[in-house]
Amino acid sequence: MLSKSLKNTIKTKLKNLKRTNLYSLFNLKMKALRMHIIGTSGYTPYPSKTARLFTSCRLFFGNKSLQIDIGNKYSGLPVDYLLVTHCHYDHIQAIETLPEMVQILIPSLTFEGTLKKKEIKSDIRVFKTKIDLDGLEVKPFPVLHSSTTMTYGFKFFWNNKTMVWLPDWCVIPGYSEIFRGLDYLFLGAAAMKKPISHKGYGHCQGAVYHMLEKISQMNNPPKKIFLIHYGQGLRPIKIKVHFLQQKFPSLKIQETFDGQRIVLD
Ligand SMILES: [Zn+2]
Repeated sequence: MLSKSLKNTIKTKLKNLKRTNLYSLFNLKMKALRMHIIGTSGYTPYPSKTARLFTSCRLFFGNKSLQIDIGNKYSGLPVDYLLVTHCHYDHIQAIETLPEMVQILIPSLTFEGTLKKKEIKSDIRVFKTKIDLDGLEVKPFPVLHSSTTMTYGFKFFWNNKTMVWLPDWCVIPGYSEIFRGLDYLFLGAAAMKKPISHKGYGHCQGAVYHMLEKISQMNNPPKKIFLIHYGQGLRPIKIKVHFLQQKFPSLKIQETFDGQRIVLD
């Protein structure tokens, strides 16, 4: 026989468990991560109907919103935060159009010097480790843009889901750890099979074909891969993305386009 106090303890525990589950279910429904892709082009003079604007996106989560990079003139309602992957033209050239109330979050102190030369009214905060924005966690990770320059990817965590946004890269240290079991990977696709080297500008782009090949050999690869930051090597986009989908059928590779809206749930 169970004692009365033990029975009561079990009852209370069950009650609390139910409450927690209901709460988390409710929360899950309320807090889906919604993405608005502003642009999908890399810095390239080749025109495209679907990738005219520089690569950038907005994320909406609960009552918070953030934008990643600002290569295009700011428009629409102010978001809470702007995250900057690096300080190249196609990622920050319109930063002076940012509304004052938007806080700028940067993953590297060296970016601060570049940004302070511009007329920016917003606060700039450096974040190097995981931060929590109302339940949406973000962690920056460093990536080589060339042997001498750095850029960053951002890994997001919410409701047991994960997503990475990585527009520029040449070498991705620890990629198998960062990408393992991801729900969504947004991967820069500037070059197809041959890496691009911009002589004199100190940066180069990795070839997406070889990275996808490596990812396809992983034990637990990302469940969906969206290509962003299209360069000349990926044009015409429809044909080249189709080629990659055929080549790596085990990876769920998808095309993106300017103005696209995706619910990440
Ligand atoms: Zn770029």
